[in-house]
Amino acid sequence: MPAEQRRKRIVSGSQPTGTLHIGNYVGALKSWVGNQDQYECLFLVADMYAIKNPEAIDAAKLREKTLEFAALFLACGIDPNKSTIFIQSQVPAHAQLAWVLSCLTPLERLQRQVYESESGGGVSTGLLLLPVLLAADILLYDTGFVPIGEDQRQHVEFVSYIARRFNSLYAPLMKSPQPLIRKKGTLIMGLDDPTVKMSKSIGATRKGHMIGLLDSAGDIKNAIMSAATDPGNTISFKHSKAGVKNLLVLYEALSGMSRADIEKELKDKSYELLKKHLVDLVADTLRPIQQKYYQIRDNTDYLEAILATGAEHARKIADPRIEMIKGAVGFRTGAKNLD
Ligand code: ATP
Ligand code: MG
Repeated sequence: MPAEQRRKRIVSGSQPTGTLHIGNYVGALKSWVGNQDQYECLFLVADMYAIKNPEAIDAAKLREKTLEFAALFLACGIDPNKSTIFIQSQVPAHAQLAWVLSCLTPLERLQRQVYESESGGGVSTGLLLLPVLLAADILLYDTGFVPIGEDQRQHVEFVSYIARRFNSLYAPLMKSPQPLIRKKGTLIMGLDDPTVKMSKSIGATRKGHMIGLLDSAGDIKNAIMSAATDPGNTISFKHSKAGVKNLLVLYEALSGMSRADIEKELKDKSYELLKKHLVDLVADTLRPIQQKYYQIRDNTDYLEAILATGAEHARKIADPRIEMIKGAVGFRTGAKNLD
């Protein structure tokens, strides 16, 4: 296919631990769905990340979570006829490239990358190497763009650094990817504490922190009605404090309404009413997703067939590329040795 007709390729994913939440939906999944026509998309269930802390997840649970995440991707609107959806560990080139890249990554550079929140307690070598694995996920597919939330900008900068370092050491095979930062409703904060981002990992231990995509109507209501708000009564995108602002941003992202219309609708209304409106909106958004999810999840054969086709397609792109990369670093690669 001529280059100008080829759609730009992007890679995104989520690690199958905890439960996908409304922040993942508005910040990631919703825009992934919207990207499918414009870009050639590869969506991975990033199971290799999930074993970075082996005490935190057992093998059977990880296998189950992997299917849950894949089914939720589909239920949210990822279309397997348009996009490739696959399990990261089913494409061995991710691990192979991660090794090559870890050898050219200075240790000090990695130590700076580890998130504060994840560095409490023991840090496994795998945790330290996560940014390298992320770089491998992206560079393996020669991707031009990485759709990310604000929370991940530093990772893309790291990928560009690794790409430049590979190119200067070996051969110009790596493209520096550009971040595609989402504009609206980008970052949803914790309902219990609007100073931290809503996260699967925090939600696993703190009730009321997040709204899970599979939460019941009762759970959704409890989480929103008890969301932290300040004692005031201002409902304004500009002037409200963090807790109310967070609810407004979520309202905006799910309703598709303009900020002005939302403020007009809620002018002189109580925080309680804002929360009630939001409960209805979240429940209406999640109901069809949950229905579709249970249909898909109940048909494991169908789900596994989609994932097998996805992995096969991903390997078709990844395998020739890893062969080229191996050749460039000096491994003997069978048919196509460089000398
Ligand atoms: P974990 O605690 O396991 O890191 P997470 O909630 O941060 O979980 P990820 O799997 O790291 O989720 O991220 C998946 C996608 O969701 C990424 O594209 C990320 O930018 C986006 N995302 C994560 N949290 C939020 C949030 N609170 N608001 C908007 N987007 C988010
Ligand atoms: Mg995260």
